[in-house]
Amino acid sequence: MARVTNVTSTEKASPMRETIAGRYAAPVDLSKFAWLSIAAAVVTIVLKSGAAWLTGSVGLLSDALESVVNLVAAIFALVALKVSIKPPDSNHPFGHSKAEYFSAAFEGIMIFVAAVVIIYSAVERILNPRMPEQLGFGLLISVVASLINGGVGFLLIRAGKQRRSATLSADGRHLMTDVVTSVAVIIGVGLVALTNLQVLDPIVAILAGINILWTGWRLIRSSSEGLMDIALPPEDEAKIEGVLDRFRADGEIDFHAVRTRESGNRRFMEMHVLVPDEWSVKRAHDLAEDVIDELVKVEPDLRVSAHLEPKSDPRSYEDIDI
Ligand SMILES: [Zn+2]
Ligand SMILES: [Zn+2]
Repeated sequence: MARVTNVTSTEKASPMRETIAGRYAAPVDLSKFAWLSIAAAVVTIVLKSGAAWLTGSVGLLSDALESVVNLVAAIFALVALKVSIKPPDSNHPFGHSKAEYFSAAFEGIMIFVAAVVIIYSAVERILNPRMPEQLGFGLLISVVASLINGGVGFLLIRAGKQRRSATLSADGRHLMTDVVTSVAVIIGVGLVALTNLQVLDPIVAILAGINILWTGWRLIRSSSEGLMDIALPPEDEAKIEGVLDRFRADGEIDFHAVRTRESGNRRFMEMHVLVPDEWSVKRAHDLAEDVIDELVKVEPDLRVSAHLEPKSDPRSYEDIDI
């Protein structure tokens, strides 16, 4: 029933559609970055498995499998980005922007698992010491692969920051862990060559593993915060309060029950607007629309819903809590 009501109300409201589209910009399609990540994964898989085939190295083969994980993650990111920009529909009336958190959490978990494997095998090497593999063809291949992953990872992290895309940030950080691993291998081999202390190689690997573990943990934490409707960061809340305070300044109107939440590429806000009892609906609504316009000016991704209330009615204050 609720679904049917929803559809008809959207249809009835269709003349308002233009106003809504005019205020809120449509989310940007970022899937080209996921395609870039898919391309990087395919190139590194071909590179590593080709080298494994040429040399018969088991190490390179397991390296190639690591790139298969990158490919799976990049495909997951592509799906999440495509779903996240789908317009609202009758059973997801707030849109689909939270889809990004699923792929970000997935990346976080995979990074976490990879870090545990790195640390486990490093501890094993401390217990059963052996010389690190020589700087050879295999290392050269993984350095080239890391340069590719590092470059793409950098682009993804930058775009993720600019567009506030949890998916792109997570995939970028995932690719960067590949760089951390390769750098650790080179430093480890170099230190052993310089000092002849075999234990330095696994110690460097453990440090890299802890760094990667931390990256994975941060991704899991930030995506679960998004899924838990975390409030906007304090600096954004301050901007919002600044706008509301400007409207409060003449003492005539007030706001309460102001709530914000992150939702991927969208941000939602609700508030009650308290106006003098004698104001007409038209006057109060004009004011509310002005407030929302100012809010969207300082926070372009914000979607605001406002509830008008007469200031001196006690019932206006009974609904502050959720
Ligand atoms: Zn309105
Ligand atoms: Zn209220």
